[in-house]
Amino acid sequence: MLRQFELVERIKAYDTDVDEDALNRAYVFAMMAHGTQTRASGDPYYSHPIEVAGILADMKLDGSSIITGLLHDTVEDTDTTLDDINGQFGDQIGSLVDGVTKLSRIELQSENTRQAENFRKLFLAMSEDIRVLLVKLADRLHNMRTLNFVKSSDKRLRIAHETMEIYAPLAERIGMQSFKDELEDLAFEQINPGARDSVVERLRYLRDEGGDLLPRIVERLRKTIHDAGIEGEALGREKRPYSIWRKMQRKNVTFEQLSDIVAFRVVVSNLPACYAALGVIHGAWPMVPGCFKDYISTPKPNGYRSLHTTVYGPEHQRLEIQIRTQEMHEIADFGVAAHWSYSAGEERTSLSDGRQYRWVRELLEILDHVSDPEEFLEHTKLEMFQDQVFCFTPKGDLISLPSGATAVDFAYAVHTDVGDTCVGAKINSKISQLRTILHNGDQVEIVRSNVAAPSPTWEQFVVTGKARSRIRRYVRGRERDEHMRLGKAILERAFAQVHCDMSTKALKHAGSALGRKKPDDLFEAVGLGEITSMQVVGAAYPEAVDPTSVPPRSKPRDGSAGDHAIPIRGLIPGMAVHFSNCCHPLPGDRIVGIVTSGKGVAIHTIDCDTLQQFEETPERWLDVAWTVDGEAPDLHVGRIDVVVVNEPGTLGAITTLIGRNNGNISNLKFTNRAEDFFEMRIDVEVRDLRHLTNIIAALRANESVTTVERVRD
Ligand code: MN
Repeated sequence: MLRQFELVERIKAYDTDVDEDALNRAYVFAMMAHGTQTRASGDPYYSHPIEVAGILADMKLDGSSIITGLLHDTVEDTDTTLDDINGQFGDQIGSLVDGVTKLSRIELQSENTRQAENFRKLFLAMSEDIRVLLVKLADRLHNMRTLNFVKSSDKRLRIAHETMEIYAPLAERIGMQSFKDELEDLAFEQINPGARDSVVERLRYLRDEGGDLLPRIVERLRKTIHDAGIEGEALGREKRPYSIWRKMQRKNVTFEQLSDIVAFRVVVSNLPACYAALGVIHGAWPMVPGCFKDYISTPKPNGYRSLHTTVYGPEHQRLEIQIRTQEMHEIADFGVAAHWSYSAGEERTSLSDGRQYRWVRELLEILDHVSDPEEFLEHTKLEMFQDQVFCFTPKGDLISLPSGATAVDFAYAVHTDVGDTCVGAKINSKISQLRTILHNGDQVEIVRSNVAAPSPTWEQFVVTGKARSRIRRYVRGRERDEHMRLGKAILERAFAQVHCDMSTKALKHAGSALGRKKPDDLFEAVGLGEITSMQVVGAAYPEAVDPTSVPPRSKPRDGSAGDHAIPIRGLIPGMAVHFSNCCHPLPGDRIVGIVTSGKGVAIHTIDCDTLQQFEETPERWLDVAWTVDGEAPDLHVGRIDVVVVNEPGTLGAITTLIGRNNGNISNLKFTNRAEDFFEMRIDVEVRDLRHLTNIIAALRANESVTTVERVRD
């Protein structure tokens, strides 16, 4: 385990300005926080964050990243809170540790790697500061290095697959080749130990057979470029078993050639020297046609730059050679992390100066010089993750949605049926409204009901096309149904009044006269108020109806449904039937319907002043009745004016009283506030008139209440 002073010295070697005091405090804090916890290896737990910090120091990362590495497991695995971290190390470290903690929580949900692509996107989207991702990758690397200590082989395998499919590609995405190679190889060891063993065995054999071939070739390479007056180093690095295995699979070949095993590198001091070295090497040995690639003029999307060539080398072996500058070399190994420190030229810029997604922009800048449109697309996708939000189902499946998406969007994304029947949502186990906007990593459980149906109001807050079109389609279909039912009921009553039969033949006859061939279309038109019932009856039985006669105006009804009254229960308010805002009718009130062209029927109480406007158009009046059935009662808004004495606690007493009587206050406003009295207007959702009357009586019984009156205006 790295000792405290060793870690600090390692960082000071590349960053003399680093906050040594904070580093020391974080080191001690991690040790104290993890206390006697141990790892699977039996080592004290704190050895893990310290090793992670060491890995980050190898990448020459800034002090904040190292401190985050030291603290990265404290919030998740110890009593430490985020407030503790904020208090002791500042908000910036706090938000970095929080970011890593969130990724760790997500990681726990990733039980399968089926959705690896979505997980990778989620990780990128959640790593608002790239350092969060770097710490997480270092964390995973150390866990992989110590994976053999984990006893359960299932768990080892799961972690290995996760590494292979999520973390290694992420490392590659941000250009961290050395991380990617090591992660993959450690995972390979678990996933396919037989294959790896055979590759390792073969490597040993070839190494023995070749003798000191490798150092000899490196020496020849070095001498060749030095003789040409180019400053630089030659290196030969054996490839990792996994990358050899992959190459064997990809090319369907066995490996025999040195070029399959060792990557030779020539690292020179500046960019022109790369091309000069290339020329010298091609001059010394014949090149293999078709193997040259210039990733300097056309870098890879993750920022990788080098010249690649293959030659028949000094011992007639094929040699794969990569030529690059020191800067390119470090970027090839550490990608974004290294790219950063070089991006401002000579002066080392601190990672903490980097604003959100600066690395993406930098990569995009590189891409400005890239002509391949596919590579460009690949890249712009990265930025687009910002517009997405990724949430989990209770089973751990990832659902990707546009940002701003709500629980209803989530429900429809899971399945149309789930959307159609959702009534509520549990977000991270908390009951939440359907309109709640989701955040990255939220776990969403949709509460469903068999009798539920999409609500027209959802359309106002959903953001996905799927949810919107589905709700629209449902509402439109439902509206047509409602209008048809209403129109049919109106016609049945009209035919009965003139003692004529509403036969299919009669409807057909009337329908063709009025331009509505199908009976359903005719019903809908009547329900909508586009055609009056008398027009239909007149068209069906011209002899029975005197077109100049005025039909008898419907008698307003009391609570009971008469023979001709049209039942309104079961029709959805807001579609074919509207309860008017002028008089707030309640079940139990004497009511009348007014057919409004194109809008269905408006329900008024019989004493509503508005009705005077319709005295001259009796054909629009409709006999409607409340019907009482077993269905769950709809709620209606009753409006009351209350005058109370101005004393502390009065308002609370009133609202408590209403609530205790099962009334739900939907609106409350003060209409007058005098020194001694308050006057207020309250809208209460009630089942019916009796319910409202009960509430009024309960209020009147309260000593603070002076008067209570129902309002109809
Ligand atoms: Mn960890």
